[in-house]
Amino acid sequence: MAKKKFMLGFSPELVNEAIVYRLVKDYDLKINILRAEVKELGGRLLMEVDGKASNIKDAAKYLNECKVDVQELANYVEKNEERCTHCGVCISICPVEALTMERPTWMVRYDPEKCIACGMCIDACPPGAMKFRI
Ligand code: SF4
Ligand code: SF4
Repeated sequence: MAKKKFMLGFSPELVNEAIVYRLVKDYDLKINILRAEVKELGGRLLMEVDGKASNIKDAAKYLNECKVDVQELANYVEKNEERCTHCGVCISICPVEALTMERPTWMVRYDPEKCIACGMCIDACPPGAMKFRI
């Protein structure tokens, strides 16, 4: 079994298609949708998929055939270390403890493996050190 993170980009004509349903039904994948946006120019879906590695590969091929833009992401959110002032504002906001204070340095550390891309630190960070990669 494997787990991967993807950002899917849909053109306007694909937004109403049951593409994610096919990923579940035909490729036996568990889908965890973390973020979804629908705009005039199309839609974007940030999701984690869980299933057999071969099924994930086949599902990605299916998405490409449907003309869905597929980007595999190692992580969704990045921290700009040069901008971060280590103020600690984000630590209490993060629901999954992906941002923690390192002792005894008092430096704020980010663990992308824990991040669920809720975006709350991005909205809260005073100098804009946290941002979506997409
Ligand atoms: S809120 Fe921003 S500046 Fe403050 S510690 Fe977190 S990432 Fe760094
Ligand atoms: S996006 Fe959400 S889960 Fe990820 S580090 Fe920021 S607050 Fe935590």
